[in-house]
Amino acid sequence: MKKSDVLAFKDKLHALRARLRGDVTAMAQVALRKSGMEGSDSNGMPIHMAELGSDNFEQEFTLSLMETEEDTLELIDAALERMEGGTFGRCIQCDGVIPKARLNAIPYTPVCIKCAEARESA
Ligand SMILES: [Zn+2]
Repeated sequence: MKKSDVLAFKDKLHALRARLRGDVTAMAQVALRKSGMEGSDSNGMPIHMAELGSDNFEQEFTLSLMETEEDTLELIDAALERMEGGTFGRCIQCDGVIPKARLNAIPYTPVCIKCAEARESA
């Protein structure tokens, strides 16, 4: 992997980590407030139209982030360590190359798709 690519992922990981560490509580409040407004007559503030389309996705994403927050932080730290060691982008299980598309989606993933699937079904 090119050094510039690694640096780009490094930025992503740092941003993700900062968000997980700092904003989880705020994100939870936003997610719960939004879900509360969905089922009842709104007595809160009006929602901007632009927000409506992404509400469900954002909420699911936020809640799943919270569930695995600790695990994710560990994975992010491990990924940053692998960057230092020069092995970032390689599967820790089979030593295969992790496709960039997968890293774009989950920059802290330690395994390739094959190994991830093997783990999940194990
Ligand atoms: Zn693998």
